[in-house]
Amino acid sequence: MEYVLRQYRDKQMRLTKVREALAEIFCQTERPLTVPEILVKLEQSNLRPNKTTVYRELEILIKNEILKEVYFNDDKKRYELDRDHHHHLVCKQCGEVIEIECDHSFELQVEAVAKKNNFVIETESLEFFGQCKNCV
Ligand SMILES: [Zn+2]
Ligand SMILES: [Zn+2]
Repeated sequence: MEYVLRQYRDKQMRLTKVREALAEIFCQTERPLTVPEILVKLEQSNLRPNKTTVYRELEILIKNEILKEVYFNDDKKRYELDRDHHHHLVCKQCGEVIEIECDHSFELQVEAVAKKNNFVIETESLEFFGQCKNCV
């Protein structure tokens, strides 16, 4: 959580109650969260901001590279800390998510191919879908 609070300070973002709670929520959760899940967690911290406020807040955190958007095989947007480079194993049945730390050489390989083709990478997403041990 300190990590996010430090980012707020470095980026001169005002520390509001909602921002503080979001820092805690994202640091304690090891998988990407949807907006409804975020709202439930905020409520558990006795915060009830309306949806618009939360969306606006998430946008600000993304712009400041504290959070990033993650897309799985459904139409829900998810959010997680924009920290280390990693990917996800996602269970199609129950939604279980396992984080995969990524070998840096793979990233370099992608960058090299992009460069060779004058391709400008803007966002990246690499998730793997299947069934977890509880669902097979
Ligand atoms: Zn993740
Ligand atoms: Zn599962």
